[in-house]
Amino acid sequence: MQVLSPIQVENSKLQVLHNPLLDRAGVELWVKREDLIHPQVSGNKWRKLKYNLAQAKEEGYDQLLTFGGAYSNHILATAAASKLFGFRSIGIIRGEEHLPLNSTLSFAQDCGMELHYLDRTRYREKHTTEIVNTLIHQYGRSYIIPEGGSNANAVKGCAEIIKEIDIDFDCLCTACGTGGTIAGLVAGLKGEKRIMGFPVLKGATFLYDEIKSLLKDFDPTSIGFQNWDLQLDYHFGGYAKNKAPLKVFMEEFEMNHQISLEHVYTGKLFFGLFDLIKQGYFPKGSTIVALHTGGLRKF
Ligand SMILES: *Cc1c(COP(=O)(O)O)cnc(C)c1O
Repeated sequence: MQVLSPIQVENSKLQVLHNPLLDRAGVELWVKREDLIHPQVSGNKWRKLKYNLAQAKEEGYDQLLTFGGAYSNHILATAAASKLFGFRSIGIIRGEEHLPLNSTLSFAQDCGMELHYLDRTRYREKHTTEIVNTLIHQYGRSYIIPEGGSNANAVKGCAEIIKEIDIDFDCLCTACGTGGTIAGLVAGLKGEKRIMGFPVLKGATFLYDEIKSLLKDFDPTSIGFQNWDLQLDYHFGGYAKNKAPLKVFMEEFEMNHQISLEHVYTGKLFFGLFDLIKQGYFPKGSTIVALHTGGLRKF
């Protein structure tokens, strides 16, 4: 599948960080700047959408339908990508409508996304055939992209990140929401090196099965890979929680490295990573690559 794209990934450079903590630990830390790919279809959201858009075009769909919470980066990215690539888009939002719309949803609407709401009970069942059929009946023939954009096409897109990393490294780290991104990294590395995920949700042990299931859908041979794990202790209470130590860390990080973070994903990733480095988790001489998955909401 060839994708002719108004979005280019060349901007996603590798950047090395310098600070006394890394020096003391004898660890080299590089950041893969997926946040620079596009201001709205940023980071991993582009990677996950790319082959879904290609398949939708190939199968003759002119409308995408997807799901997300009211602050979802995936909703925002899908709305922006739909506009860029000439699709109509339907956003099925969890819960009730709150007016005025928040900045994520009003941006999505400005991109032409039609917003509809599902109560929390039905939202939990959103991927069942029954609800999907009802939605298609209501809103028309649509290419369905699951919540967070995570499916086999997303895994395929995220796996492409690997071949852009042209340095030798030991461990690749990413924040995890639905697990699509880390599944792609695992698939792309094919059992080599280590991959570490930092789930942003509390009690995210469900992600182990979720990631295996995404890997299975993409390539059944990849579920056997054992070179990945999750760090479950850096969720800070869940998605939208903004805890003081996290805030302090982020401000310091942004000042020292001139790289912006947000508190839902990348703030927690770097907080967790620095904490592990401080504890001596990584042997001296290790080289780590951290994925800056974007999510900075520039609109
Ligand atoms: C959506 C998102 C993630 C989570 O990606 P998953 O594939 O759902 O695990 C991580 N970082 C940012 C900035 C995101 O927007």
